[in-house]
Amino acid sequence: MKTIYLSAEDAATAVVAAEMIRSGELVAIPTETVYGLGANGLDENAVAKIFEAKGRPQDNPLILHISGPEQIELFCHHIPQKAYDLAEAFWPGPLTIVLPARSIVPRRTTGGLDTVAVRCPDCAVTREIIRLSGVPIAAPSANISGKPSTTTAEHVLHDHDGKIAAIVDGGPCRVGVESTIVDLTEERPRLLRPGGIGPEQLVEVLGDLVVDKAVTAQVDKDAVVKAPGMKYRHYAPAEPVVIVSGSREKAAAYIHRHFEPGDRVLCFEEELPLYEGCAPLSYGKEADVNTLSAGLFAALRELDDPSIHQVYARCPVGGGVAYAVQNRLKKAAAFHIVDAEAEA
Ligand code: AMP
Ligand code: MG
Repeated sequence: MKTIYLSAEDAATAVVAAEMIRSGELVAIPTETVYGLGANGLDENAVAKIFEAKGRPQDNPLILHISGPEQIELFCHHIPQKAYDLAEAFWPGPLTIVLPARSIVPRRTTGGLDTVAVRCPDCAVTREIIRLSGVPIAAPSANISGKPSTTTAEHVLHDHDGKIAAIVDGGPCRVGVESTIVDLTEERPRLLRPGGIGPEQLVEVLGDLVVDKAVTAQVDKDAVVKAPGMKYRHYAPAEPVVIVSGSREKAAAYIHRHFEPGDRVLCFEEELPLYEGCAPLSYGKEADVNTLSAGLFAALRELDDPSIHQVYARCPVGGGVAYAVQNRLKKAAAFHIVDAEAEA
């Protein structure tokens, strides 16, 4: 199949893409978080194509992208006021809410769960595609399953050229890490995945938040978890990644002691001079965490090269979107972290 390239700038793009979605095709769509691989979320056969194209495990549910809070009740029931409070505070934006699913939503979309995740993306062309198609768009990140997510149209073409009907190019993604996921199906709101909205911002609206254990530690692949996506190997380049924590100087000393030819260093722009001769790659500025979230997946993709032996990675500290960057890097590293301060 020839993958049709559509520019977000082109006035006809939303109409063409919406028609493809309606007819059951796969269309890659830009959002402020990452590029999604979109299909009609109410059409089981269309949704099946997403799982096939990505090589995604069948029990890993998809997020339904909707055009606004007024659509929540079309696909969810038992909707607490908190859902509308979150939507009012953060939509359109990088926040996904998990609620009980109405029967109109196929189990293939929800990975067999009786809950469904909904989000309204902050991207005008994608909201217009949703509106014109008249259906919610189910879309996971557009990468091949397990690989770093897609934050440019080039990343999507690299993974799916010739396998999907079209790609809508909206430029590089502004946030660069996936949405924050909050589950509202239990008594207490639960953070299932950190993302573009920080935990502190959620607590301001909700007054309470439980952090799911899958956020902070590796979960066994046979475990029963609230967010099935969190138990799989994720975001990972071909070679092992190890996070080196501690001060700039101690981390650089540790890495220089252990570095061998064929290794790479993933660091902050400010640290580049410390890693001369260690093939360093910067993913953004430590002083501006938004550049780190925006640059992380492109850097992990660049490092996805079987000829590399090992990557030493530097990780930001703190809350907000830095919390999401920590989570993605830790998952890419399979939670392998060394403390440079502890090693004499
Ligand atoms: P992706 O779009 O590739 O970031 O994947 C979507 C994520 O949303 C996965 O990690 C899923 O585990 C999570 N998700 C989607 N639907 C649900 C749901 N009903 N309950 C819990 N997590 C969900
Ligand atoms: Mg994904």
